[in-house]
Amino acid sequence: MKNIILIAPPAAGKGTLSKKLSDNFGYVPLSTGDILREKAQTDEVLREAMKTGKLINDETVFAALEEKLDKLGDKPYILDGFPRTVNQAIMYDELLEKMNKDLGVVIYLDVDKEILKERITTRLVCPTCKKPYSTRKGDLYPMDGKTCDNCHVDLIQRADDTEEVFEERFKEYLEKTEPLIDYYKNKGILESVNSENAAKTYEDVIPIIK
Ligand code: AMP
Repeated sequence: MKNIILIAPPAAGKGTLSKKLSDNFGYVPLSTGDILREKAQTDEVLREAMKTGKLINDETVFAALEEKLDKLGDKPYILDGFPRTVNQAIMYDELLEKMNKDLGVVIYLDVDKEILKERITTRLVCPTCKKPYSTRKGDLYPMDGKTCDNCHVDLIQRADDTEEVFEERFKEYLEKTEPLIDYYKNKGILESVNSENAAKTYEDVIPIIK
């Protein structure tokens, strides 16, 4: 299986797709947001920085990511939330060369801004397996309304999942992450998928990764 990079605005469905692909195809999900949130539990400066919705410095992100990639061996992986800037993409190309790994395929998840905002403010997540849920009745609604269907622990809301922080995160996305679409388009490895319906997104992605 090809390694995957997911590029998308906040709450476009990266986490949901990544979880499904790892459950069904054995991918290792690597979310830089999750890795940084884990680090932030013992790092107050990082914790406060993440609450603002702004991007974290490359040095911190790469140190955390490299450590995870080192342990993977040849297992295929999905990058969710990385790279976030063209500079990170260039640095990542160099890292892959050093580690003798393939970049794989880049999938851009396209969703309308108003849908993203609504998803963010209704989003819950399992603190154990990181599976995303929603307080809105539908596919992502937890079976008992409050705990993870698999881990049975209480679902939580992320500190940055508020309407106000969403605006900052979306601004960061437009300014810094969206230019990556052209970066990977020019390399001929970008695939675009509409991500308004999670089940359909998953179906559309299967032929791309095979
Ligand atoms: P996410 O879980 O992908 O929405 O990321 C949550 C937060 O983690 C972001 O708002 C950033 O502060 C930080 N973050 C995650 N990935 C990166 C990255 N690749 N570069 C810089 N900051 C990141």
